[in-house]
Amino acid sequence: MTATQAQPQPALGLAHLFIDGAGCDGAGPERILIDPASAQPWHGTRDASEDQLRLAVSGAKAALPVWAGRAPAARAKVLMRLAALIEERAGQLAAIEARNVGKPLAQARRDVIRAADYFRFYAGACDKLNGETIPLGGERTALTLLEPVGVTAHILPWNYPLSTLARGVAPALAAGASVVAKPSELTPLSAVTLAQWALEAGLPAGLFNVICGGGEIGAALAGHPDIAHVTFTGSTESGRKVMQSAAVPVAGVTLELGGKSPVIVLADADLEAAAKDVAHGIFFNAGQICTAGARLICQRSVHDALVARIAALGEAMQMGDPLEDPDLGPLVSANQRNRVEGFVERAKAAGLTCITGGQRPDRAGYFYPPTIFTAVPPAAEIAQCEVFGPVLVTQCCDGPDEALALANGTAFGLVAGIYSADATQALRLARRLEAGQVFVNGFLKGGDSIPFGGVKHSGIGREKGLAGLAAYALPKAIILSH
Ligand code: NAD
Repeated sequence: MTATQAQPQPALGLAHLFIDGAGCDGAGPERILIDPASAQPWHGTRDASEDQLRLAVSGAKAALPVWAGRAPAARAKVLMRLAALIEERAGQLAAIEARNVGKPLAQARRDVIRAADYFRFYAGACDKLNGETIPLGGERTALTLLEPVGVTAHILPWNYPLSTLARGVAPALAAGASVVAKPSELTPLSAVTLAQWALEAGLPAGLFNVICGGGEIGAALAGHPDIAHVTFTGSTESGRKVMQSAAVPVAGVTLELGGKSPVIVLADADLEAAAKDVAHGIFFNAGQICTAGARLICQRSVHDALVARIAALGEAMQMGDPLEDPDLGPLVSANQRNRVEGFVERAKAAGLTCITGGQRPDRAGYFYPPTIFTAVPPAAEIAQCEVFGPVLVTQCCDGPDEALALANGTAFGLVAGIYSADATQALRLARRLEAGQVFVNGFLKGGDSIPFGGVKHSGIGREKGLAGLAAYALPKAIILSH
């Protein structure tokens, strides 16, 4: 696709809210979206007002019995049709996301296709939400029914706007629950389109609502008395606030938060494969990935050779306009670029060694180059905090036990990677790593059917796979005395 063909015109003029089966404009404050590749104003939106938020929640509540009353196989058909529509029209959403997020076009398309995959995966689960019978002995029998949790809130980040939306909305709808989604204020354009297509696919009006706005609207949504569950993806700091808001309706929470994920490379590893995966794992999507492998922990004897290879891969990445599908797009916003730059400048001022990158390029837009700091002390800010940009820190270790101590030495615990030819050693490490997912000899080469979520400050609960249904389909126990 050429840049001209991919112009995101379909986004312009769209309604930015979707309430009770109809698109509408926000009645709250105006916002101007900035094109991150040019730093120019691109598109205007308006936030939802608190009244519109209340209408969205009441619509979602009223629609619950309609959807829960449908046969599970009928619900599955709707979700399947939605998956097909997303795939057929993927180019339209990919072009919007490439311009809005600054994501290279092929990566934006992959995000859209993942959204379709989630709807198809959870469509298959609709008619398999079986309860159980529990023998009690004597004259009593217990059985469980999996019931929809109720109205669910989905509060989303900007880095993968569609796939993070779909990974929560698809299991919620499959379980018979209803949805009010709030995309990030930076990337509000695609969610409404998805809700419109869901209606077209046969989803009853009111089941899937979208409201726009920032943290205040997010907090009001999480704290609305009729919300039964809040699925939040974003920073650890905002996640803590969401938990406090959700305490008001005593809602359940799934929190998918930040990370500072380690990749351990032992001396016996396939270094060429490790170099490619480590470079991909931190520079892909300009490092704006919660699961970014931001810390390379490498056995001393192979450290320099491996890091030189990763640096060469980073330096070969071409920056460019997202719609022309470069290797590296811009960061999403001026704030994000300033944040990344702040971490880098403070690390340099602290005397840390930057072997590549570390300098804002002389061009328009919020671009930042692949950057590597070596021999970073474990306590350094840049080794402990999530940068959320293309910045890798490396640390040397003298063996697996030291690697493990370094890897577990932050507040986060989202994912981790291990490279070693010794499967027993890799399994031993995998079992001791504090992370929700551990990749052995293939960092981030998993999939969306695998349970995903963090430990420690990286979150609570699990999404993806069948585990992702647990938040939305709650067992009710019925005990019969006979
Ligand atoms: P953010 O926390 O600033 O915002 C996320 C969402 O929360 C936005 O929609 C925002 O409007 C809303 N929000 C902000 N304050 C709120 C409040 N007090 N109450 C309710 N809602 C509020 O995060 P971001 O900058 O959009 O995204 C980047 C962060 O997201 C990174 O930390 C990244 O690691 C994390 N993330 C995690 C995952 C995961 O699956 N674990 C995936 C993607 C991103």
